[in-house]
Amino acid sequence: MDFDLSPEQEQIRKLAHEFADKEIAPGARERDRGQIFPAEILRKMAPLGFLGGPIPETYGGMGVDYISHAIITEEVGRADSSVRTTLSVQISLVEMTILRFGTEEQKRRYLPRLCSGEWIGCFGLTEPGYGSDAASLAATAVKDGGGWVLNGRKMWISNGGPSKVALVFARTDPAAPKAHGITAFLLERDAQPYATPEIHGKLGLRSSNTSEIVLDNVRVPDSQRLGELGQGFKIAMTALDAGRYSVAAGAVGIAQACIDASVAYAAQRKAFGKPIASYQLVQELIADMIVETEAARLLVYRAGHLKNKGVPSTRETSIAKLYASEIASRCADRAIQVHGGYGFSDEFPVERYYRDARVNRLYEGTTQIQKLIIGRFATGIDAIA
Ligand SMILES: Cc1cc2nc3c(=O)[nH]c(=O)nc-3n(C[C@H](O)[C@H](O)[C@H](O)COP(=O)(O)OP(=O)(O)OC[C@H]3O[C@@H](n4cnc5c(N)ncnc54)[C@H](O)[C@@H]3O)c2cc1C
Repeated sequence: MDFDLSPEQEQIRKLAHEFADKEIAPGARERDRGQIFPAEILRKMAPLGFLGGPIPETYGGMGVDYISHAIITEEVGRADSSVRTTLSVQISLVEMTILRFGTEEQKRRYLPRLCSGEWIGCFGLTEPGYGSDAASLAATAVKDGGGWVLNGRKMWISNGGPSKVALVFARTDPAAPKAHGITAFLLERDAQPYATPEIHGKLGLRSSNTSEIVLDNVRVPDSQRLGELGQGFKIAMTALDAGRYSVAAGAVGIAQACIDASVAYAAQRKAFGKPIASYQLVQELIADMIVETEAARLLVYRAGHLKNKGVPSTRETSIAKLYASEIASRCADRAIQVHGGYGFSDEFPVERYYRDARVNRLYEGTTQIQKLIIGRFATGIDAIA
């Protein structure tokens, strides 16, 4: 086992770290307060290749390995989870799914536009009535001549508002067993307009766009079907496997940000005549954060190592996603404790970390769903089949 990063990975860490500190972190509070989508940041990220990390260079990506992908994602997540969510959806849910299941023509049409940031992509699986139970989704696609007519509603869709392309899942065969009757489609907003009413009032991720998608007799040619007929649920689960890896890396970024903020604050804040860093109970809060963050990072890297080898990593990705998302919340809670009353205001970033960390335990499969996946591998019994 080799725990060292390669010189290329170190280089990517340095580049992403500096970019995050210089370009992403400084405006995070204002974007959060104003619920401002980070379009400007994406424009600056594109020339660095960050919008197409693991996508091969032939399709406009950077062609980096999965550990490097996690490193970039962690660094972005350290600075701003809203930007990280936008990036994760773009790369892990949309680009990587097209790379995996698209025809050559689809890859050439969509990937360069997504990797360059010309188009923003979104992933529409969840519906108002079905989240964890996505196999029961109700949106329909009915064959009509050479194409399909889509109807239904998608809920909680990150990047929905600014999206130019939407990867959506709809039921094409109501008679088939529920997971087998679903098909994936790529909608191009200009040619197949879909409405995206924005969802407001979120606890966190306020500068990430979260919208509904309204499919009202949306006509799409069969050439924009992604994958085989009835393969949609498998495609969605494969996409979520990639997405969870990204969520896990982003959650490690939040936890690291909590450590950095707490160490800096503890060194300068005085109580009883001494910096609070000199008190053992404060050091304990910081030490607990460090232990959990390093453990979570290693779980992410293990999943990335398996992905690099091209072997199955669903179990390891679920373990990393579950643990990293849980500890990000715990670290943010401790970081507020270190900051005392100041931690409760947006004068310091830790209150944003606390709010932003929470959603990691919900999206791309809740903590409970990750436990069911891990339990399935242990027992051989699928509790949600
Ligand atoms: C900010 C944000 C962004 C999102 N972005 C996207 C996106 O881009 N695309 C997309 O498709 N979706 C997105 N989602 C949706 C997200 O993936 C779902 O919210 C999540 O999968 C949970 O589904 P649900 O909200 O319907 O909760 P439910 O499925 O109703 O679950 C409610 C509770 O019941 C528990 N539960 C459900 N079933 C079981 C079971 N069998 N055993 C034990 N416990 C169970 C859950 O763990 C949870 O605690 C986003 C959500 C949020 C909040």
